[in-house]
Amino acid sequence: RLREEKTYLSTEPVTRDRVRLEVRLNVAAVNDRELSGAAHTDGCGLFRTEFLYLSGDRLPGEEEQFQAYQKVLAAFGSKPVVLRTMDIGGDKQLPALKLPKESNPFLGIRGLRLSLDRMDLFRIQIRAALRASVHGNLKIMMPMVGALDEVRAAKTVFKEEGAALDAAGIPWDHGTELGIMVEVPSIALIADLIADEVDFVSVGTNDLTQYLCAADRMNPAVRPYYQEYHPAVFRVLSYLARTFQTAGKSVSVCGELGGDPLAIPVLAGLGIHKLSMGRSSVPAAKRVIRNLNMADAKALAQEVQGMKTAEDIRARLTAFAERAT
Ligand code: PEP
Ligand code: MG
Repeated sequence: RLREEKTYLSTEPVTRDRVRLEVRLNVAAVNDRELSGAAHTDGCGLFRTEFLYLSGDRLPGEEEQFQAYQKVLAAFGSKPVVLRTMDIGGDKQLPALKLPKESNPFLGIRGLRLSLDRMDLFRIQIRAALRASVHGNLKIMMPMVGALDEVRAAKTVFKEEGAALDAAGIPWDHGTELGIMVEVPSIALIADLIADEVDFVSVGTNDLTQYLCAADRMNPAVRPYYQEYHPAVFRVLSYLARTFQTAGKSVSVCGELGGDPLAIPVLAGLGIHKLSMGRSSVPAAKRVIRNLNMADAKALAQEVQGMKTAEDIRARLTAFAERAT
């Protein structure tokens, strides 16, 4: 592992046949350890802002958020930073906010649903993010989107807060891109209808798998039913990749699958060239990419589309990985 890190961490993620993929970093806190991967990656593909809310017993104010966002943007320089608006609810409970107890929290008020429910909190975050946008290459992404009206409601908030900043003479980047996470099946399956309403999408395979398989990602008892290589996951990914490519919009993967050495060849073969992952996954991901031929990746992606079980797919991906290294 140490040797892998030494050999690959700072290499370019280029395939054998010279296709340049992008390896981006998932960031879950603002500290040196989390940001140390910035120099070796093509940006931050997922900046989880929840940590600001989850620690401590009070909610973060606009200034505190602005400072944190600015720090991450500074660490990445001109590289893109995809800031995800608060993804609270589900497994992420908030000590500072008394959220009503739900019997199915993963099917309840979480992610963008909570933001739209608590506009006061959402507006503070949007203002902080838009103000930070002049300090780097910021993109904003919303989690747990299930339908287009949610996206439109959120866009209205962005518009209003942007206008308020303009009125106050506070600078922000008017070209800031707005995207969504694709992690709820209902939004995945209307990819063609949403493509012209968002600037980009990133697939949250952790939740997407949970919802496709109807298996709680936190419950060890249903672990066998939570199948990261379920054929349905790869079918949805294939559909998303095709649809967004046709629309000329960017698709990335920022769930665990994006940093999974077994899955990366398939993602690349589907045409998903932006992968975002935790710092510890970067060296192995780059090793896989540098040993990959796109023709092989495409054939593998095609082959997987016809495979019947997660076990079959795992076996095939394992064999592919062993042959490639
Ligand atoms: C995901 O669901 O895949 C994801 C990246 O978001 P989180 O794991 O934070 O829910
Ligand atoms: Mg998620």
